[in-house]
Amino acid sequence: MSETVHAVPQGFKAAIGPAELAQLHADFAADADAFWLSQAKRLDWTRFPTKAGDWSYAREDFHVRWYEDGELNLSVNCLDRHLAERGDKTAIVFEADEPGEGRSLTYRELHALTCRFANLLKREGVKRGDRVMIYMPMIPEAAAAMLACARIGAIHSVVFGGFSPESLAGRIEDCDARVVITADEGVRGGKKIPLKANVDSACDMAHGRIDRVIVVTRTGADVAWTEGRDIRWDDVFESLSDDCPAEAMGAEDPLFILYTSGSTGKPKGVVHTTGGYATWAATTFDWIFGATDNDLFWCTADVGWITGHSYVVYGPLMMGRSTVMFDGVPNYPDFGRFWETCDRLGVTIFYTAPTAIRALEREGDVPVKAHDRSSIRLLGTVGEPINPAAWEWYFDVVGDQRCPIVDTWWQTETGAALIANLPGAIDMKPGSATRPLPGIQPLLVDAEGRELEGAVSGNLCLRSSWPGQMRTVWGDHDRFFQTYFTAYPGLYFTGDGCRRDEDGYYWITGRVDDVINVSGHRIGTAEVESALVMHPKVAEAAVVGVPHDVKGRESTPSSPRLPASPATTISAAS
Ligand code: AMP
Repeated sequence: MSETVHAVPQGFKAAIGPAELAQLHADFAADADAFWLSQAKRLDWTRFPTKAGDWSYAREDFHVRWYEDGELNLSVNCLDRHLAERGDKTAIVFEADEPGEGRSLTYRELHALTCRFANLLKREGVKRGDRVMIYMPMIPEAAAAMLACARIGAIHSVVFGGFSPESLAGRIEDCDARVVITADEGVRGGKKIPLKANVDSACDMAHGRIDRVIVVTRTGADVAWTEGRDIRWDDVFESLSDDCPAEAMGAEDPLFILYTSGSTGKPKGVVHTTGGYATWAATTFDWIFGATDNDLFWCTADVGWITGHSYVVYGPLMMGRSTVMFDGVPNYPDFGRFWETCDRLGVTIFYTAPTAIRALEREGDVPVKAHDRSSIRLLGTVGEPINPAAWEWYFDVVGDQRCPIVDTWWQTETGAALIANLPGAIDMKPGSATRPLPGIQPLLVDAEGRELEGAVSGNLCLRSSWPGQMRTVWGDHDRFFQTYFTAYPGLYFTGDGCRRDEDGYYWITGRVDDVINVSGHRIGTAEVESALVMHPKVAEAAVVGVPHDVKGRESTPSSPRLPASPATTISAAS
């Protein structure tokens, strides 16, 4: 099979070069505890932890804890600690659905907005440990709402604004939330999304659990109102102090719950805690993107996904950088939207998903070339395996072969990236997330859990914990253990199939429970999809199994993340 290798483009100024990367790996190998404690120094702690990881994946002693005796507040780390030096620096650039209709907030302004939100939550009786649902468009108030929860120790659960009232109600019930923060409407691609009306339906379905609905004005639409329950943000704004003391949180206090579907069963409430999540989100943001004070970072993900949590809000803000919150879609008002916006705002680092890249590739080069894009210096991809053809297009056409591409593999469960190329230190191979980050110890196993060495395909597991690992499934700790730690005892099983090549690069082949079974061969859906989209007339592909009398049935796992034999490798690149 032929694999292209791309060296880091000349002229790219790397934050971490090969020597620094080698040193990080050496530091971890020499003293893991010291290594992890030194990463935690990126944050301000009111009590710095004395030890790093305390974990065991064994059934009889199963636990995962990080920085346990440390104390900190994440909103202080994202806001207060920057005020002295960066108070007037832009924290968030809000880019609305209509090009140019957004606004920017400085760190000082975002701090004030967050404090007001925190004071409202407190006034309405929200306490440390209470759950707050956030169902909002990509507006600065969404970030402020998350940070406000973190400030007072409430646990936020952001639900993507495209989800139905039923989904929202199910999540409200699962985590027993009493408060929802929403907007009157959302606007995406010129279309209105009835967020408040959806919340009203969800509240009905959630059997009166919700005591308060806080409504931010986005469009000014006339929405139905439940007196005594609904609070209009605009009405209370002036009455709220823009100063709110922050709670000192234990490192292991939950920060947020984020629901992920999984392949079977009801959505899992993935729980992330404060100190470990924050350390890993800040560290990986720093290592991978190397953003400086001169950068404007744009991750196109919605805050309803983990990528939006870690790389739109928490990672960039902890590191005191400027981050874009985009409330639109890639094809509105036209297919040049991303690049027009990059030019207008001066975006320097651009991070998106293969689906978006393929959708834009389908439209050809003209909408890209119509814009300058010279501000961009680094590109990124996340969310699924990127097929090599789309990677090459992203590199050649969008990045003009000037910009490295970081391919970041991770999961809701991992909090932040685990396998990714540091752009100045690792050569790129289109379609591979490349190598594990320092401190991360992946391995491949066969169906029986035997470790596979060398260049081989297998099931991707992790040998050891890292600070950003999820801690539990909300309300169902046993499900956490059963889902991730029973397939291969003593290991965390990611659920992904993977090939490792002769250079030690990792190639994710997709979920192993997402395989199609053809005449007894288990084939990763990503591999088939990648082959299909190589055809110039195919822009996007999703492979589904169809039962067949002769060739077999689609794979129907009986439990989530079914341990499976390694997916047969048919390579789209060969
Ligand atoms: P989620 O938890 O919804 O964010 O999905 C995580 C899954 O997306 C992973 O287990 C992978 O299957 C896939 N994924 C995410 N990023 C990448 C990537 N860079 N390359 C390959 N697969 C990815």
